[in-house]
Amino acid sequence: SDQRPVVLIPGRIHPRVRERAEAEFDAVFIDAADAALIDAQTRSRVKGIAAMTTVSADFIDALPNLAIIANFGVGYDAVDAPHAASRGIMVTNTPDVLSDEVADTTVGLLLNTLRELPKAETYLRAGRWAKEGPYRLTPLTLRGRTIGVFGLGRIGLAIARRLEAFGVGIHYHTRTRRTDVDYPWHETLAGMAKAVDTLIVVVPGGPATDKAVNADILDALGPDGVLINVGRGSTVDETALIAALTERRIAAAGLDVFANEPHVQQALIDLPNACLLPHVASASVSTRNAMADLVVDNLAAWLAGGAAITAVPECAALNRKPE
Ligand code: NDP
Repeated sequence: SDQRPVVLIPGRIHPRVRERAEAEFDAVFIDAADAALIDAQTRSRVKGIAAMTTVSADFIDALPNLAIIANFGVGYDAVDAPHAASRGIMVTNTPDVLSDEVADTTVGLLLNTLRELPKAETYLRAGRWAKEGPYRLTPLTLRGRTIGVFGLGRIGLAIARRLEAFGVGIHYHTRTRRTDVDYPWHETLAGMAKAVDTLIVVVPGGPATDKAVNADILDALGPDGVLINVGRGSTVDETALIAALTERRIAAAGLDVFANEPHVQQALIDLPNACLLPHVASASVSTRNAMADLVVDNLAAWLAGGAAITAVPECAALNRKPE
């Protein structure tokens, strides 16, 4: 029989992960991370998981010889990492290789939201320029704005560095103040929201940030306020956001992530002052290939007895020393 380690792939995965997993491991594909979809013998043989879907404590507990969960994506809020760590199971993610791409996309989304560029293009394509004259002057601009970055980590810092070139003010909120930057730090999100007019959300999802951007935070941005979310949909109270946009208590929002993906509330789609993207911040061929390689390289390293390349913080203490 196949002596290579069994790696389970539940749900959709990047084709490069699929191809490399088939070449390098005994790959088993199932439709979802549901233990009922695999027989008891296969369950006991699974050593690794490559996933971009929910991996629950129950699913982890159904796999007695599981050694590693390699998450496709830097955000691993869908994986129960504390539970995996408590069972001695490594969890890895894909940091750094996507930071510049996501930061580029965030700047694009910010400009599209302020300057209505997607709508202006739609106007041209509909033949309205020739018939009706120039597209309207946009009420919003990046000029003169002060930006608050909620989450100044790998991606947040890449966004801030880009925004320096735009000559805007940059503030940030994290739990721990960084010693390597001199942007003004705010101990609370509410405090930062009062000091800025543009909020860029790039914190991880999960319970610590659940609905952190609520009606009070949005109101603190003021009527010229703009919200950009490239972190996770769970971090924004979407009902409060729709109300704030409808009542023009803030001016506009640009969103790459949503509460219930891929389902986007019709109320958001109907709003003229929302600029919406289908979770594409890292979605170029080259960046997704780099993420795919990091997923498989983590599996290969750990299953061969080596150090995981990018262990999540919850599993750092489990990691082996690099050779
Ligand atoms: P990092 O871990 O490098 O950065 C996270 C930042 O958030 C840190 O500055 C951290 O600082 C801060 N933070 C975390 N929790 C809180 C909290 N409760 N309150 C305030 N600040 C907090 O992650 P990355 O920059 O690599 O990625 C960030 C997130 O972006 C990912 O987790 C993912 O969800 C999302 N993402 C979205 C993508 C998309 O396609 N739209 C693509 C890639 C990532 P501190 O710990 O000091 O609080």
